[in-house]
Amino acid sequence: YGTVGAVALDKDGNLAAGTSTGGMTNKRYGRIGDSPVIGAGTYANNKSVAVSATGSGEMFIRTSAAYNVHSRYTHLGENVQKAGDAVIKEIGDIKGTGGMIILDAKGNFAFPMNSAGMHRGMIDSKGVPMTAMFGDEQLRHFKAK
Ligand code: ASP
Repeated sequence: YGTVGAVALDKDGNLAAGTSTGGMTNKRYGRIGDSPVIGAGTYANNKSVAVSATGSGEMFIRTSAAYNVHSRYTHLGENVQKAGDAVIKEIGDIKGTGGMIILDAKGNFAFPMNSAGMHRGMIDSKGVPMTAMFGDEQLRHFKAK
């Protein structure tokens, strides 16, 4: 249950993003959140970034969050962390909470959030899985038992 997002870069330089969610607790019948709205909760462009978001979807829609990261990255030249932090601040300014996973075509990634935590993980071409849960936690090597 909950929201699961993924961003990926393949060996040919293709970026992809996907987001699956059950939506918000007690949501209104028929509500459509940000996850399936390309540019809000999900976005990928081989020339810039892949983004998947989680959190209060209305605010991610109102700030065009995922496309906003692409725009800042492309037009302001911000890196994935700076662009993501700026968009999360915009979301926080209108009382939204959540986070995003962002990956660019060079393999740079960021996990900006204003929530207490966001379960997250990454794996690179060397195949070493890294995970973290809390906002201030560093990624560390995940070893299956
Ligand atoms: N962003 C999702 C929505 O608003 C919910 C979530 O990520 O928890 O539908």
